[in-house]
Amino acid sequence: MQSIYTKVTDAMNFFEGNDPTELAKQYQTPLYVCNERILRRQCRNLKEMVTYPNFVVDYSAKANTNLAFLQIVRSEGLEVDAMSPGEIFVEKQAGFTSKEIFYICNNVSKEEMQYAIQEGVLVSVDSLSQLEQFGQLAPGHEVAVRFNPGVGAGHHEKVVTAGKKTKFGIDAECIPQVKERLEKYRLRLVGINQHIGSLFMTGDSFIQSIDSLFEIALQFPELDFIDMGGGFGIPYKKEEGEAPLDISELGKALDKKLYAFAERYGRMVKFRIEPGRYISAESNVLLGQVHSIKTNHGKKFVGCDLGFNVLVRPVMYDSYHGVEVYRPGEATANENDLDENQKELVNIVGNICESGDILAKDRLLPPIQEGDILGVLDAGAYGFTMSSNYNCRLRPAEILIREDGSVVLTRRREQLEDLIKDLIPLSE
Ligand SMILES: *Cc1c(COP(=O)(O)O)cnc(C)c1O
Repeated sequence: MQSIYTKVTDAMNFFEGNDPTELAKQYQTPLYVCNERILRRQCRNLKEMVTYPNFVVDYSAKANTNLAFLQIVRSEGLEVDAMSPGEIFVEKQAGFTSKEIFYICNNVSKEEMQYAIQEGVLVSVDSLSQLEQFGQLAPGHEVAVRFNPGVGAGHHEKVVTAGKKTKFGIDAECIPQVKERLEKYRLRLVGINQHIGSLFMTGDSFIQSIDSLFEIALQFPELDFIDMGGGFGIPYKKEEGEAPLDISELGKALDKKLYAFAERYGRMVKFRIEPGRYISAESNVLLGQVHSIKTNHGKKFVGCDLGFNVLVRPVMYDSYHGVEVYRPGEATANENDLDENQKELVNIVGNICESGDILAKDRLLPPIQEGDILGVLDAGAYGFTMSSNYNCRLRPAEILIREDGSVVLTRRREQLEDLIKDLIPLSE
C-alpha cells in the first residue's frame, strides 16, 4: 500500500499490520473494520475511571449492536442498556443475562413493556403515564424511573436529551405523583436514571447534572442504584490534534462526588453510567472506494461508495469524521507530510441520488485518485446501526481485527435477495 494520508490510524496502529487496501479487496467495500484492542481499551478506561467500589458501566448498545462486538464488551465485565425489544433480543444472543440488561424505554407500547417484563429485564419508565401503565401490567414489580435533571448537553440539538426543551424523563417537580403511583401499584423503585445528551468533551455539565440527580435520589431512600447516563465524547478532529475527554480528571471529580453522596445517603449505593459512543466510536474505521473524480463549477468532488445509507451522521447531524486515503500498489509514496499548497480542497460524496449525500465538505487532502481506498475514522458509534437500504443499497459487511492481528468476518454483506425477503408480491 502507498500511505497517502494515514496519520491517525498509523499512530493507533489501527490495522495491526494489515493493509487496508488488501482488506478492501478481500472483503469489498463499504466495509466496517473494528479493532478489538481499541474496543477493550475504551471499556477499561471507563471501568477504571473511579475507585468507588460499587460502580457499573452499562454499554448503551444502540451505538453498535454487532454480536461479536457485544461479546467483547461482555467479556470486559460491562453490562448493557437496551432501547427496544430488538436490543434486548440481540443482547441476550450475545450472552448477556436478564440481570445484566437495563431497558430504558421511551413512549413504548404495553406489548413492548410486557416483553421486557417477561424477559426478566428491569424497565425504566419515562413518564407518569408510562409508570401508570407499568403498574397496571406488573403490580408489585421492581421498576426504575428516568428523571430529567433540567440540564442538557450535546453536540447537536437532536441529541440533547435533558433540559427544559426535550421529550425525555420526568420533571423532578412530579416526585409526589411518582410516589403516589409507586404506592398505588406497590411498585418498588430500585433505581433512577438520567441521560443528559450525547458527546460532551468536558465533564462540567455532566458533574452539574449529577447534583440535581442526587437531590432527587435523596427523596427515595431505598434505591439500589443511581444511573448517571452516558454522553462521554470522543475527539472527532484527531488529525487537527483535538484533545480527548480527560477521563482521569473527570473520574477524580466523579469519585469525590460518589463517596460524598454515599455518605449523605447512608450507604454505598450502586452507581452506573451508560456510555455508547465512548465505548464504540474509535474502535471502527469505515472503508470505501473512490469511483469517480470531477470538478463541477470549480468545486472538486470525490465520488465513492460511502453514501448516507452506510454512514448517516454527516448528513443527519452535520458531523465531522476524519478521512484517510490509502492507495493500492507498491509502498512508495508517503504523502502524510505534504505541504498545504500541494493538497486539494475536495468534497467527498456518496452514491445516493440526493445532493445532500455529502460525507465530508471542503477537506484539504493530498490529491485523490480513482481506485483509492478511503478510511472514515471513528465510525464505530451510530455507524452501522443507523445504516439503511435506501436506494436499495446493500448494508455493508463488518470485520474484526483481533488482538493478534488476525481478521475475522463478523457480519456478512447483504445480498440482493435480502432486499425482497420480507416482501409479499401480489399474486396476480
Ligand atoms: C443513547 C443513549 C445513551 C448513550 O449515549 P452516548 O452519547 O452514545 O454515550 C445513554 N443513555 C440513554 C438513555 C441513551 O438514549
